[in-house]
Amino acid sequence: MNSAAWTSPPVLADDLGITRQGVRAWLKRHGYPKDDDGFYRIDAATEARMRAHFAARKTPPPLGPCSVDECDRPRRSRGAELCALHHQRMSRHGTLERSLPGQNQRAKTHCPKGHPYTPENTYRFADGRRRCRRCRLDRAAAAKRTRATPA
Ligand SMILES: [Zn+2]
Ligand SMILES: [Zn+2]
Repeated sequence: MNSAAWTSPPVLADDLGITRQGVRAWLKRHGYPKDDDGFYRIDAATEARMRAHFAARKTPPPLGPCSVDECDRPRRSRGAELCALHHQRMSRHGTLERSLPGQNQRAKTHCPKGHPYTPENTYRFADGRRRCRRCRLDRAAAAKRTRATPA
């Protein structure tokens, strides 16, 4: 028998850029018999199957690009429309636009209680933060009621 027709797990592993264990595991999984001396001798047909198998695994088809215009990042996963960055923006901010610090807050047109942030109803701090005047008045009124009602 011509030994040149055979290859061994270490040789094939090096060739495929995978571990020897990976080669042996594949052989075992496919019921490939060991030689009498306990070694695998891989015939040409099996080698071809393994090459096809591991080549396909090593280079999965590329993920498509993010669906956002001018974004060339890959999609975050198969079946996803967006790249990781745009997905994160969308889930955190509900928008694909780049968010600036405070943009979230500035975008709000109403206070948490639903009062409008109109110029008349808005206190503005020097650093740009806003406070609802109605809420402040309501809190003051509530405090007054509490004081006025003996426990
Ligand atoms: Zn993107
Ligand atoms: Zn308010």
